[in-house]
Amino acid sequence: MKERAAQIAAETIVDRLRAEGYDAYFAGGCVRDLLLGRKPDDFDIATSALPETVLAMFPRTFAVGAHFGVILVADKIDGEEIVTEVATFRSDGAYADGRRPQSVRFSESAEEDVVRRDFTINGMLLDPQLLRESGDLGKAVLDYVGGRADLRDRLVRAIGDADRRFDEDKLRMLRAVRFAARIDFEIELGTAAAIQKSAAHIANVSHERVRDELTRMLTDGRARRAFELLDRTGLLRTVLPEIARMQGVEQPPEYHPEGDVWVHTLMLLEQLPAGVSPTLAWGALLHDVGKPATFQRGPGRIRFNGHVEVGVRIAQDIARRLRFSNEETAQIVALVENHMRFGDVEKMKASTLKRFFRLQAFPEHLALHRMDCMASHGGLELYEYAKQRFEATPLEEVRPKLLVTGRDLIEVGLQPGPRFKELLAQAEDAQLEGRISSKEEGLALIRSLSDAAPIP
Ligand code: ATP
Ligand code: MG
Repeated sequence: MKERAAQIAAETIVDRLRAEGYDAYFAGGCVRDLLLGRKPDDFDIATSALPETVLAMFPRTFAVGAHFGVILVADKIDGEEIVTEVATFRSDGAYADGRRPQSVRFSESAEEDVVRRDFTINGMLLDPQLLRESGDLGKAVLDYVGGRADLRDRLVRAIGDADRRFDEDKLRMLRAVRFAARIDFEIELGTAAAIQKSAAHIANVSHERVRDELTRMLTDGRARRAFELLDRTGLLRTVLPEIARMQGVEQPPEYHPEGDVWVHTLMLLEQLPAGVSPTLAWGALLHDVGKPATFQRGPGRIRFNGHVEVGVRIAQDIARRLRFSNEETAQIVALVENHMRFGDVEKMKASTLKRFFRLQAFPEHLALHRMDCMASHGGLELYEYAKQRFEATPLEEVRPKLLVTGRDLIEVGLQPGPRFKELLAQAEDAQLEGRISSKEEGLALIRSLSDAAPIP
C-alpha cells in the first residue's frame, strides 16, 4: 500500500519535471529492487533540474542536502504522507576525508550522474513514463554501467576503478557487504580484492556510520552471510576485532557439538529474522564475546570461567565505541549479562524467577536463549519452561503492590540501613512466593526475622 503510494508520488514528480522540459528518472536502489522483483523502500529521483528549480516547482519541499543537490518533496497520496528524494544530476569533486566529496558539480547528464554512484546494480535509471507505456521493465531501464548484466550474474561490482572508489569513500566497503548479503549476491572478484586491500582504512569512517551499517546487516535477515563476508573481506578485524577473536576458540564438544565460538555465533546470526530488534541482534552477536579471553583447557574439559562478566565489560566497550544510546547499551549488555541464567530457571524459587522476569524486554532474553540452544545442543526444555512460566505470570504477580513497605518498617520502630533493606527484600520474596498474603502476615514475618537476628 505504502509502496504503491510512494511509486505514484514519484511518478507524479517525474511527470511534472518532464512537463517543464527537464530530464527525470527513478534512480538507484528502487530500480535495482524493481528489477529483482523486490518492493523498494523508497523511490529516489534523479533530474537535470537544479535544486532551486525543484524547490520552486513543488509546494512542500525541504532542502536537506541542498549542497549535494538533494531536495525532499512531500506529497499526500491516498491519505499517505510520502516524502520523495529528488537529486540533481551531479558529478562529485575530489574526496579528502575518505567519506564525502569536497564539492559537487551539477550536471545536465544522466550518464555523469550514474558513474559517481557506488555499484553497478545501484547505478541504473528507470523511465517511469516508458514503463507505463510499454509495460516492460527491461525497455524502461537506462543502464550505462552494466548493472543489468551484474544483476543477472548476481554480482556486486564497483562502478569504475574499484580501488579508487573505495579510496574516495571507505563506507562503500561496508555497503558492498551489506548489499551482497541482503540479496545473496557475490562481491565481484576485483571489487572484493579492492576491499581486502583497503579494509583497514574502514577505521577512517565515523563509528556511528559503521554502527548503522552493521545494524542494518544484523537486521536485514541475512546476518550470517554478512558476517562471513565481513570476515572474508578483512573488514571484521577492524570494525569488530572482538568478534574476529572468536575464530578458532574451541568449545567442549559435549556441550557445543557445532564447533568453535565463531561458528556458534554465526549459527545465532543465521536465526535473526529480517526486521528483528537491533538490541536483540547485537545481543546475539555479543553474548559469548567474553569467551576468547577466558578460554581455559582443563582440568577435565575446556572452561570459560567468568566469561559473562568479561563479556559484559567487552560489550560495554563496544557499545560505547559505536556510540549506542544509553538505553540501547543497557539492553544489549543486559542480554549478555543474563544469558547463562536460563540454565537455572527450573531450580529458581518463585521469587527469583519473578525478579528474573522483571528484566526490561524479557521476551528478548527468551529469544536469545532459544537461539543459543538452537545453535548448540538443540534442546529447548528450559526455554519452553521459562516461556510458559513467563506467559502464565501476569504483570501484577511479577511486580505486585508490596504488602510491606519501608514506611511500615519504620512504623514498627526499625531504622533504615542495610539490614532494614534485607528484611524488606525478604518480605517481598515471601510475598512473591505466596508465603504471606496480607500486611499483618508480613509484619509478623518481619518480627520473627528481626527477633532471630535483631537490628543492632
Ligand atoms: P537501500 O535499499 O538500502 O536504501 P539504496 O540503493 O536505496 O539501498 P541508499 O543508501 O538509499 O541505497 O542510496 C541511494 C543511492 O545513492 C544508491 O542506490 C546509490 O546509487 C547512491 N549511493 C548511496 N550511497 C552512496 C555512496 N556512499 N557512494 C556512491 N553512491 C552512493
Ligand atoms: Mg534507499
